[in-house]
Order: sequence, then structure tokens, then C-alpha cells
Amino acid sequence: MIDTKPLTVIFTPIIFIMPKRIGIFGCTGSIGTQALSVIDANPSLFSVAILTAHTNVKLLTEQALKYKPDIVVIGDESKYETLKANLANTSISVTAGEEALVAAAAHPEYDMMLAAIVGYAGLKPTLQAIECGKTIALANKETLVVAGDIVMQKALEKRVPIIPVDSEHSAIFQCLVGEQKNKIEKIVLTASGGPFLGKKPNFLVNVKRDHALQHPNWSMGAKISIDSATLMNKGLEIIEAKWLFNLQPDQIQAVIHPQSIIHSIVQFEDGSMKAQMGLPDMKLPIQYAMAFPQRIANDYPRFDFRKISQLTFEEPDIKTFRNLHLAMEALKQGGNMPCVLNAANEIAVFAFLRNRIGFLDITEVVERTMDKITFIAQPTLNDYYESDGEARNFAASLIQL
Ligand code: NDP
Ligand code: MG
Repeated sequence: MIDTKPLTVIFTPIIFIMPKRIGIFGCTGSIGTQALSVIDANPSLFSVAILTAHTNVKLLTEQALKYKPDIVVIGDESKYETLKANLANTSISVTAGEEALVAAAAHPEYDMMLAAIVGYAGLKPTLQAIECGKTIALANKETLVVAGDIVMQKALEKRVPIIPVDSEHSAIFQCLVGEQKNKIEKIVLTASGGPFLGKKPNFLVNVKRDHALQHPNWSMGAKISIDSATLMNKGLEIIEAKWLFNLQPDQIQAVIHPQSIIHSIVQFEDGSMKAQMGLPDMKLPIQYAMAFPQRIANDYPRFDFRKISQLTFEEPDIKTFRNLHLAMEALKQGGNMPCVLNAANEIAVFAFLRNRIGFLDITEVVERTMDKITFIAQPTLNDYYESDGEARNFAASLIQL
């Protein structure tokens, strides 16, 4: 007898998952190098397409030879010849300067930008990447502080996900997974309090650079370490949160939590709160942003409730750490004020790191600059660029006096 059943062939589809191609802007810094160690641990998930640094040619060369990206960019043009010579026997494209950073951000052959440049310098490449539809893993909070309205609007238009890397914002982002339709009542951003928690102005007036760089819980780049010591970092993060999560200023609260175990909290309309916890290790939010929505297994140390018996919380002392107050004021005023605050702070922190001004002078420079620069209620991108330049010049003139 002949079997009349049609012959069915079952195809098992073989799916090749290509590694996500990451452009690491700011690859030689604290975030950039930790992102590379996440990539080292997950070669099947990620590859390196672009590496950029500012002056550190030595490390950039080592990284380029190891990861073989398509492009490397050095921000400081005076370092171009050295970098080019170091990579002469490779097929890596080498460019230099601010425009080259923006051009690299538009490169077609990558999927995700890790925005890990420090400060205002990260704004233009990030905007360019959004313009070109690249997903952004955002560490560079200054981008949102300076021009959050324009950046988020552009991301919305281009349907580009902006996934936070900053640990507090990653915590909020993680708490919001599955909650798209539920209104946020408020968020609580935790802060370690930095190395000078509990100190008063009579102590802070004598603080020196090296002491301010010693953060109790996190190992970070110089600028953010000083921002953490002055609490400006929490101020910048409140502004960053406003834009990332579309909140009103009075929906965002900062609380000191010296153990840095609870990374932040969301409170919903029903009063229920969700927090995200873990040991302080930036590799966690970095890998979460890079692999989202997937979580990746790792063997990093785990938090153990038997070892840490107390998680404590207190109000920030904004009378002593007035930078946090200034940032909250800038957020309430809106317009170009956060941009002005950020520019003055970058200049003041730079001067403090060079022992040109004292710790408390940082606040003085920021406040006087905010008082001086003309307020613009609804700035264009160009207004932001100009406000940044004016604020930098004015802040620098205060320091030279
Ligand atoms: P680092 O100072 O350690 O690194 C900064 C990176 O940016 C370096 O690769 C540096 O290059 C590059 N860079 C510096 N200036 C310029 C410039 N003008 N143009 C182009 N590139 C430049 O900073 P972090 O890694 O600590 O911080 C990066 C960003 O991430 C910051 O915005 C910070 O607020 C944010 N962040 C950092 C956290 C951390 O734990 N470190 C936590 C949360 C957020 P080079 O080395 O050659 O100078
Ligand atoms: Mg943070």
C-alpha cells in the first residue's frame, strides 16, 4: 500500500545572533574601561565597533589593538600623529577632533552608543547618534542636564531608546519594567553622601583635591568624584531623572543612604514602592543597559544580608552642600539654567582639581555664574551652546580674580 500522507519536512531554524556592535565614546575612562571588561566576559553578545578617547593615546592604542574596532577617534588633535603611527599596521580608521567624534557617531556600522564621555563634550556626539537612530546607553548625565528637552524630544522622534547607565537611573528604569501604564507618584534617588558626609563648612574649607577624590563606595573618574563630594552629582542626577522619566521637580527626592545598596526607589500612585538593590558595582548597570532587556549571568560578589545589618537613610544637608540646592533651583527655573549650572560647575571642578580654588569656592563660582548669565526660558540648541560658552567664560573670569 502506498502511503498518501504528504511528506512533511520539519525545518529547525538556525538563528545566528550577531553580537551587538558597541561604540564606546569615552573608552579610556572609568565607565569605558568597565564596559570593555563586560564585553570581555561576553564576547558572543557584544563586539567593539568604535573607540574614542580625549588624550590618553597609550591606553587607546592598547584597546584598539586588542578589540580591533572599525574606527578610533582621539578628541585632542595634537595626539593624532602618535595614534596614527601606533595603528599604522592595522586597517582601523583613525581620526581626531570634535567633528570627528560627531562623524564617528554617525557611522553606519554600529548598533549602540555607550555615551561615556565626561561633561558637555558628550552632548554633540550623543545627539548625532540619536539623529542616526542608534540606541543610547547613557552614562554621560551632563548631556541631559544641558539640553534634556531637545535630546529627549529627538529620541522620541527617532524612536531611539535611551537606556540609563547611571546607577540610580538604571535602578528606576529597572523598577519601571512592566509598569508602563502605571503613574509614578515620586522617585527617590539615593546618594552615598560622598567622603564628607556629616562635615560642616569649617571642615570643608580646608579640603584638598586628593581627599575629595576618595569616594567611600564607588571608584569613578575625577570629575564625578568631586561632584559626589560636593553633592552636585545628586543635583545633576535629579535633572537627569526629570528628563529620562518625564517628571516634575517636586516628584524627585534625594535621600542620603551611605551604604549604597539601594540604588533608587519608585513610588507609584497606590503608595507602593519598588527599589532596586545590589552591591555598588558600575559593571551591573553598564551590562544591564548594554544587554537590555536581557539580564546576563555573572559571578560578581553578591550582597549578603547577614554581613550588612543596617541600611540607613537621612536628609541631605543642603545648607552645607549648597550645590544640591543650586541644582534644584536650576531645575525649578528651567530654561537654560541647568546648562549654565553645568558649565560653571565643569569650570570650577576643573580648577579645584588643579588646586586653583578651594572646595567651597566651587559653589560660589556656580552661584555667581547662575546670577550673571541671561535667563532664556525656551532655549534652542544654539542658545544652549551659547549659554554654555558664556557661562564658562564668566566662571573662568571669576577664578582668575
Ligand atoms: P572619566 O573621566 O573616567 O572618563 C571620561 C572619558 O571621556 C575618557 O575616555 C576621556 O578620555 C573622555 N573625555 C574626556 N574629555 C573629553 C572631551 N573633551 N572630548 C572627548 N572625550 C573626552 O569619567 P567617568 O568614566 O567616570 O564618567 C563618564 C561619564 O559617566 C560622566 O558623565 C559621569 O558623570 C558618568 N557616570 C560615571 C560613573 C562612574 O562610576 N564613573 C557613574 C555614573 C555616571 P581621556 O581618558 O583620554 O581623557
Ligand atoms: Mg549616579
